[in-house]
Amino acid sequence: MHSSNLKKYRDILEKKKEELLAATPARTPATEPGSKSGDWIDQSSQENDLHVRLALKQTDSKLLRAIEEAIHRIDQGTYGICMDCENEIAPARLEAVPWTRVCINCKEKQQS
Ligand SMILES: [Zn+2]
Repeated sequence: MHSSNLKKYRDILEKKKEELLAATPARTPATEPGSKSGDWIDQSSQENDLHVRLALKQTDSKLLRAIEEAIHRIDQGTYGICMDCENEIAPARLEAVPWTRVCINCKEKQQS
């Protein structure tokens, strides 16, 4: 792949990575000591909220890892090559999903 294209994808990936990191709080606020509510209904709704946030975080960290791997592949010179069939990934697919590891054919095979 041409190096100016690589730079473009790298910029997109770096930007997306920054967005994800900005959306992820650096640390979860600690539960204040002594604020424990005796109301079990209140407590269970807090737990539900926590589950939602954990689920979101897992998706984000998965995406973050995919982005980091893609940036690594740019450094290695293997970016844009399908990890399954080793064919080049179509530019349109890279535009849509810059952190993808496989071409559309292999992706469809995985899904079927
Ligand atoms: Zn493939």
